[in-house]
Amino acid sequence: MEKADGADSGHRGTDHGARRAARADRPGGQAVREGCGWIQRLPGPAYRLALPGGGGQETVPPGDHCLRGSSVSERLGRGLLEHFEVVDYVVNGEGERPFAGLLEAMAHGRPAPEPSDVPGVFGRSVDGRVLGGGRSQLTRLDDLPVPDFDAYFQELRECSNLRTILPQVPVETSRGCWWHRAHSGRPSRGCRFCNLNLQWRGYRSKSPGRVADEIEVLSRKYSTLRFAFMDNVLNPARMGAMFEAIAGKDGDLDLFTELRVPVPRAVFSGMRRAGVRRVQVGIEALSTPLLEKMGKGTRTIDNVAVMKRCEEFDVENHSNLLLEFPGSDASDVAETLRVLDFVRIFRPLRIVRFWLGEGSPIAENPGAFGLSAVRNHPWYRAVFPGELAERLPLMVKTCRGDRERQRKLWGPVRDAVRRWRRDHDAWKRRFPCLPLLGYSDGGNFLLLRDRAVSSGAPKTYRLKGISRELYLACDEPRPIADLLREFPSISEVKIRAFLEDMTKKRLMFQEGDCCLSLATHENIRRFCPPPPG
Ligand code: SF4
Repeated sequence: MEKADGADSGHRGTDHGARRAARADRPGGQAVREGCGWIQRLPGPAYRLALPGGGGQETVPPGDHCLRGSSVSERLGRGLLEHFEVVDYVVNGEGERPFAGLLEAMAHGRPAPEPSDVPGVFGRSVDGRVLGGGRSQLTRLDDLPVPDFDAYFQELRECSNLRTILPQVPVETSRGCWWHRAHSGRPSRGCRFCNLNLQWRGYRSKSPGRVADEIEVLSRKYSTLRFAFMDNVLNPARMGAMFEAIAGKDGDLDLFTELRVPVPRAVFSGMRRAGVRRVQVGIEALSTPLLEKMGKGTRTIDNVAVMKRCEEFDVENHSNLLLEFPGSDASDVAETLRVLDFVRIFRPLRIVRFWLGEGSPIAENPGAFGLSAVRNHPWYRAVFPGELAERLPLMVKTCRGDRERQRKLWGPVRDAVRRWRRDHDAWKRRFPCLPLLGYSDGGNFLLLRDRAVSSGAPKTYRLKGISRELYLACDEPRPIADLLREFPSISEVKIRAFLEDMTKKRLMFQEGDCCLSLATHENIRRFCPPPPG
């Protein structure tokens, strides 16, 4: 909680008109702004205390209270104004311009601005109606200043027991999601479970050089090498150049980012050289029909490819497998089990169950997914008293639907992932620094080693001549038609027979008419930048 601007009026009234009148008496009043993160619904204990029976409103800091953040956009923000007398304004969506506008209005003789005075701000009229809203976004993210974390680092220095921690600093390279499309007049699209984009309209990203400079400035200023990209999704058109620009700076960075597939090998390689050590990829499912139901716009084969890249470049993959998506069926489960048999050589995914989020496409149209009776999750009753837990628009929802059927349906996948985890741990204990399926290139032959064995030596395969070339040609997902064009001297029958044999041995993965080699290069040269040109 931070105070911004002006003198303390000490006003703590509870009547709308009285609050506004009091503000009108004190030009240049005080604004208290509170951040509401994605998880954090209320900005600290002050508001909790303001609840009936929670300690009384006299505990709330004086001033005009303005909330902003990812969890107070649209209905969520309006609801707070409608139910919490102590909240005066809510910034709707992106905060810089609306909050600056609000401060300016308060500081320059407009001490009690009507909400409609400041685009992007919800507020109350004299008679207590919630007004305003709309959006006011920056056009260019490069115009933003480098974030200032002085207060955080000062606090760390002051806490003797925290001095040894190595903080991870957030970096924002973009806002919104280019895949999520709503409010644009064009057909909407986006992941149907996702509500991460309530805060933004459209997609914008910083230029690659700006991101690299920002990280360099923050690293030197705060003596830290650990950064986490806060983006919903990186800009695919810029991420290659961005990671090359970061890799070109001094500093052994330790980076985390989220990713959306596909990620070409060259980009992944640059990402690793820039310092990315951990990723969370929007994998969600290992069945393309299920990915379609989810609105992901991705394919299983691209998910398998990114799991392989993580293995190849020694990047920890902390991605999820989303189970119990409404409307998923036995064929989705069967396909997932089939694919799990191929990816057992990669780091296991983490299982998460579907949950319904406010503002997600499913929550907006639950009937289309067989859901009904959508309301706030009962766990909010632990925080909000009485009816408020029902009436206040809140982030996590519960509903009626096919939940129990889904739970049973996905049981075999839960068991298979448990086995995957157990086996993978055991194999990695035997071969800690090597890929479970790796290859070494002899120039005109390949040696493949399958170390996913619980005892004895790894299984070894030798691919010679054209077999080696075909295998290497499928390092990225390749349509078979491409291979037929690239290897005109080999008959289609022979190519298909080779791919079939490799797939049976779990050395390649096939989806439809597309195939992917699963073994990763073991040679250290894989980390080298590609030769110029
Ligand atoms: S899950 Fe990721 S890719 Fe999908 S709509 Fe949300 S932010 Fe975009």
